[in-house]
Parts: sequence; structure tokens; C-alpha cells
Amino acid sequence: MEFGEIVIAGNPNAGKTSVYNRLTGAAQQVSNYPGVTVEFICGQMRHEGRRFTVVDLPGTYSLTAYTQEELVARNYIVERKPALIVNVVDASNFERNLYLTIQLMEMRIPMVIALNMVDTAERRGYRVDVVKSSALLGVPVIPTIASRGKGMTELRDACVAVIEGRLAAMPAPVTYGHAVDEEVLALAEAVTKQGSLARQYAPGWLAAKLMERDEAAIAGARAVAADELEALLALAEEAAQRMERHFKADAATVLAEHRYGMAAGVVKSCVSFTAEARRDVTDHIDMVVCNRLVGPVILVAVVAALFFWVFKVSDEWAWIPWVNGFQSPTGLVTGLFDLLSDSLKPLGVRAPMLHSLLDAGIIGGVGGVMSFVPLIFFMFFFVAMLEDSGYIARVAFILDRPLRVFGLQGKSILAFIVAGGLGAGGCAVPGILSTRTMREDKDRLVTMLVTPFMNCGAKMPVYAMLIAAFFPGNRTLVMMTLWGLSWITALCAAWVLRKTLVRGEQTPFVMELPPYHIPILTSVLRHTWERTWLYMKKAGTIILAINILLWAVMYFPRPPEDAPPDKALAHSFAGRAGLALEPVTRAAGFDWRTNIALIGGFAAKEVVVGALGTAYALEQAEDEDHKPLSETLASMPDWNPARAFALMVFVMLYAPCLVTVAVIRRESGSWKWAAFSTMYSTLLAFMLAVFFYQAGSLLAG
Ligand code: GDP
Ligand code: MG
Repeated sequence: MEFGEIVIAGNPNAGKTSVYNRLTGAAQQVSNYPGVTVEFICGQMRHEGRRFTVVDLPGTYSLTAYTQEELVARNYIVERKPALIVNVVDASNFERNLYLTIQLMEMRIPMVIALNMVDTAERRGYRVDVVKSSALLGVPVIPTIASRGKGMTELRDACVAVIEGRLAAMPAPVTYGHAVDEEVLALAEAVTKQGSLARQYAPGWLAAKLMERDEAAIAGARAVAADELEALLALAEEAAQRMERHFKADAATVLAEHRYGMAAGVVKSCVSFTAEARRDVTDHIDMVVCNRLVGPVILVAVVAALFFWVFKVSDEWAWIPWVNGFQSPTGLVTGLFDLLSDSLKPLGVRAPMLHSLLDAGIIGGVGGVMSFVPLIFFMFFFVAMLEDSGYIARVAFILDRPLRVFGLQGKSILAFIVAGGLGAGGCAVPGILSTRTMREDKDRLVTMLVTPFMNCGAKMPVYAMLIAAFFPGNRTLVMMTLWGLSWITALCAAWVLRKTLVRGEQTPFVMELPPYHIPILTSVLRHTWERTWLYMKKAGTIILAINILLWAVMYFPRPPEDAPPDKALAHSFAGRAGLALEPVTRAAGFDWRTNIALIGGFAAKEVVVGALGTAYALEQAEDEDHKPLSETLASMPDWNPARAFALMVFVMLYAPCLVTVAVIRRESGSWKWAAFSTMYSTLLAFMLAVFFYQAGSLLAG
């Protein structure tokens, strides 16, 4: 049987998703950067044979209408009128979390507070009085440690008891202080007299929103009862102006300040500090990590350690000591695909076309992507540890000021990091989605346009293959160079865009520093696995399909019977396209085979290595021994380090993949920006590739 709906609300990183997972038992992604849980997640909580729908709302600090998250969370509560709000409050940031709590209380929905992270609060030296805060706020307060499942039984019992009417949970009325209360109450009374509006809205909430001149709320109310609203609007405007004369600030600010005042009051009466609370471990670490001089040095060291460590673990250490050549995780996967390819050899004579499709098209392409799964896995693991620890928020903090010089801001960093900016191996799609928390449209647009320059997971196979072939002794150094180059390009592009197409003032913006956590291994592993799985799934679906298509245009039409086998590729559709572009791309060192791979890469960059592999495999005689692509390229006289580097730079910067372009179109609201992004990136990529190829060739020659 289906009972009422429970929504989980709270600040970003308060532990909502952890609570959600514990209540529903679902393995949902626990995200640590703001903005990833933009769409809410919905599941079922079972209790003694009954089912309750549970919804994980996006995390917000407030319920104004400034960001999409706020609107989503707010509209969901206003429109659906859930039976219960589980308000996840981060006890270690109690006052700031109370600000949202108070806005939720205004909506007059029964509430249970999960007072989460009590462990962190304890460690930082303060304690929230559960009994007193429950009494002040009028709702049950359950102390929890969601990440470890503590307090979850109590929380669930309280939820059920509230829904069954056995436990009182209607929040206490919000008080703004005398002068404001008067106005809000009078207007709320006027709302109550209007039948249809009062049925849809909590009168006090609508009264406050009308005084704040909240356009989204006004539009919503107009849709419910347009004529009732007109009378109220005039009253609200009078009230707002009276308050504005009194407080010398606009009404929305006045109301916000009075909500903060209420929060401060709750803190004063419910929180007790121990002696060391003022300067805890977090503060001590932050004095170093966020230092203006030392901080950036630490950041670069962390990134270098990341690359060093990831290559060691995934590829260099022989930690699977049984079979030669299979000793590292990467070696193991590559070895398995080689075995598969060898076992297909007999097909080569009997059914050459089928053999070519399976070997060159499918195994070459998908195997190429799959062999980077170990590398990607360890990269994600490292980044997930950093995210969980709280370091990422410091990175945003350290870089907020320098980024403003380039017309970006601290929150841009979150997009960059999700897209692979802290090393490599993210994805631009969630990166661009994470910009939804940016209130400044221009900062947001520029961030979206430069985020695809970061080194997403799809570019890793290209880098790893070419580095293995041409820079085997300098892996970390070359990766660091590529990493630095992606940032420099993104920053310079942002600066130019802010000076030309996206001009405008920047507004100041406060960065919070959540306390450090010791990363929890299970949640880090879950994160890592989910992201790795997405990568593998893509390799088995989209990438496989594109590879087969590419193989076909590289295999057909067949040349005449008597033509030499190494002319077959040039005779194919793809070969002809590649050859047609060659006169231009020669400047960057790209021959027609590379062009084929790069054209395929417009769809998704994962296919570049596979398509290159296919191109070279198709030119090999059938009886030649199968060699890894990097060895093949290293032995080619027309390949050299300059060409390899130029190709890596081009792959790094040229047009975002199709999915990213579609997301840019959706998030920027126009095809214009999506098309612009594709064209300017490709042009920039080509210019830089030409530069590096020509400069490299000069230096070598
Ligand atoms: P959400 O984004 O607000 O839904 O928060 P998450 O559920 O993603 O939690 C953010 C981080 O805090 C994760 O790393 C969790 O493992 C961690 N976390 C959640 N609850 C607690 C807690 O009670 N104590 C501690 N120390 N960490 C927690
Ligand atoms: Mg979440």
C-alpha cells in the first residue's frame, strides 16, 4: 500500500543523498560537488509492509528563485505538498543550514530534522542541543551520521510516526522580529481570505514572497487565481514600501536578514562550544592549504602526485605476478584483447571481411578504449578521494581570486574539475550541468564554453597511446604539460570571450569552506565504480556503433581485385575524405589516416584511437604480426614526437563531442552558442596544433 510522499531537502553536501540511500536502500550516487544532483531522484522506503515514496531534492542554501535548483526544490514542495520534509541539517554548519530550515518552515509542511554530521560537529568542538532545538523549531530532531548509518532507524520511525499522526511535526511559526512580523501577518491574513490561493499556498509563505516581489512566485499565484492576486499585490507593495522606509533596504533583503536573525537566535540557545572550538583541525589545515602562496604549490604537487601514482599503479607496477606481459591491470586487459584478436586469425583467410570487421573494427576500437579502464578507474579513485576529503572546495577557494582576472569565478572550477580539470578523466557533460548553480549568466556562459577544453576521459586513450609511443620516459611530465596547456587555453579563451562576445561586470561572491572529512572508502569506491562503469558502458554502446560505422566507411568500397592491399584504405570513402583534407592538415603534421580518425572523433573522442588503429590495421597485410598501435606508430618514419604532441593538442581542444554540444545548446538556450563552441574550438585547436608541430619540427631539425 502506498502512503504519503517524503521529500529530502537540505544544503548541498549536508548528506541528503546519504540519508536517501539509507532510507531507501538504493545505491544512489553520493555527489560531493554542488550542482550534480540537479534532477531529483525518487525511490521507495519500505517499513513494516508499507511503502513510502522518497524524493531527493536538489541541494540548496536558500529557496529564493535565483538558481534552477532552488526553483526545482521550491516548486516541488509548493505543488506536490508532500506529507513530510526530511530536512537534512549539517550540524557542523548549523547556522547556515538553519537559514534554509527557516525557509522550509515557512512552507508549513510537517518536518523531521535529521541533524547530520554530528561526528564532524563534535570533532570541531560543538554540540547542538537536540531537545532544545526540537522545542524551538517545533519539529522532531534526530541526530544522525548518515554516512555510517547511525540514527537511521530512529529517523525512519519518526517519519512513519509523523505520517501516521502519532508524532507532532508541524514547524513552529517563523518569527521575523516585531516590525516585520506585523506586516507579514497582516498580509497573510489577507491571503487567507482569498479562498483558492489559501488552498494552494501557505499564506505566510505567499505573503513573504509577494513582499519580496519574487517573480516566480507571483507568476505561479497568477496562474492559480489571477484576480485574487491583483488585490493582494497592491497590499503587498504597500507593505514592502513601508518596510523599506523603515529599514532603509529593499524588502527581500530585509526579510533575508530577519531569517538570518532567527537562525542566529536558535544557535545562541542551542549550541554549546568546547574550548578549542574556535580553531580546529580544519582551520589549521586551511591556514596552509588556502595560503595564497603555498596553496597553489600544493595544488600542483597534488596533480603531479595524481599522474605519477595513477601511471605507477595501473601500468608500471607488476603487481599481478603470474604471467609475463599481464602483470599490471592495463597489461591484463590489453593482453586479453590481444588473445581475442589472435584467436580470430584463422578467420582471416576464410572470411576476410568478417575478420576485418571483428578484428579491425570491433576489437581494435572497443579494445582500445577498454584497455584504459584501469587507468581511468585509478584516476577516478584519486579524484573521488580528493572530493570526499573536502579538498576540492579549497581548490575553488584558492582559485576564485585569480580566476576573476580571466572573467571566471570559483564555481567555474567545479565545472572544470568535473570535466577532468584536476588531472584527467572527467566528462564535460556533468561539468556543464554543474554550472547551473552559478547565478551570474555571463560567468556561466563563458564557463560552459571553455569547460570542454579540460582533459575528459575520452581523451586519455589518445594521450596514453601517443605518450607510450613517443615519450615513454617522460609520462608524468608530458601529462603535466597537457594538463597545464588545457588550463592555459581555457583561461585565455575565457579572457578573450569576456573582452569580446560576453562582456559584462562581475559580481562578488562568497565561497564557503566545508570542513575536511576523512574519505570513506565505500563511498569513494562506489563513486569510482559508477563513473568507470559509465565509461565502459559508453565503450560498449555508442563507441561500438560509431566504430562499426567508421570501419564500414573505411572498408568500402573495395578496390579492384588486382590492386595492392595497402591501397584499399585510400580507395574507401573515408580514405578519400581524409585525403581531400590532407593538403590543409599537413601543416599540423596530420596525414589522411589521422584525418579519418579525427573526423570520427567529432562524434566522440574515444573513437580516435580505435579509428587510427583500424586505419593502420587495414593497411597491414593479413599475415603480418599484430602489433600494438603505439609500437606501429613509433616505428613509422613519418611519425615523430612533434607530430604526436600536435595531435594530442588538437584532440584536447577541438570541437566538443556531440553529446556535449547538445548539452551546451540546452543549457545556453541557443544553437548559436553550441555552433560557436564547435567552430571556435576547432579553429583554435588547429592553430595550436600547427604551432606545436612547426615549432617541434624546427627544434628537432
Ligand atoms: P548531499 O550532496 O547533500 O546529498 O550529501 P551527500 O550524501 O553526498 O554527502 C556528502 C559527503 O558527506 C559524502 O562524502 C558523505 O559520505 C559525507 N557524509 C554524509 N553524512 C555524513 C556524516 O554524518 N558524517 C560525516 N563525517 N560525513 C558524512
Ligand atoms: Mg546529493
